[in-house]
Amino acid sequence: MRRAIYPGSFDPVTLGHLDIIKRAAAIFDELIVCVCINSAKDSGLFSPEERVELIRKVTEDLPNVRVDCSRELVADYARRNRSRVLVKGLRAVSDYEAEIQMAMINAKLNPKLDTVFLYTRPKYAYLSSTVVKELARYGADLSDFVPRQIIGEVCAKMADGSPQQP
Ligand code: ADP
Repeated sequence: MRRAIYPGSFDPVTLGHLDIIKRAAAIFDELIVCVCINSAKDSGLFSPEERVELIRKVTEDLPNVRVDCSRELVADYARRNRSRVLVKGLRAVSDYEAEIQMAMINAKLNPKLDTVFLYTRPKYAYLSSTVVKELARYGADLSDFVPRQIIGEVCAKMADGSPQQP
């Protein structure tokens, strides 16, 4: 069984993430999308549990996708889940430097682990969770940016405001 892990903050999941999820799910037998609680990033708009729920909602038609949440190092999480592959999405050269560094660190921590990069579809190259939050704050139409099933939740969260602690 070829099991891969797609780690990220997913705050919230975007159409760019979903495209990577679908493509990775078509390549591997099982894909675990893992919401990683990362102290270096901002405290987050959605709680980790809410992010998991949003991802579950938009992947319910993908039978080989599992959604989880972890406070562990990704390298340890992969070992514990018997996976040798991390999937990462690349948008631009600016992603590349940080992602290559992470891939090398993860391989150092867990030598059995490889990182596989999927390039973004050009139509999602500009898209990030940060952009989504910024647009939502101004009440913009989110239908080109997040899966339609979760637009209501993203708008409602923006309206009631306060960020969650990780
Ligand atoms: P962000 O907060 O920047 O949207 P995350 O930390 O949630 O990103 O991203 C998780 C993974 O998804 C990373 O590998 C990131 O490069 C990738 N990713 C994010 N947005 C896109 C996109 N629009 N297209 C392809 N990959 C993406």
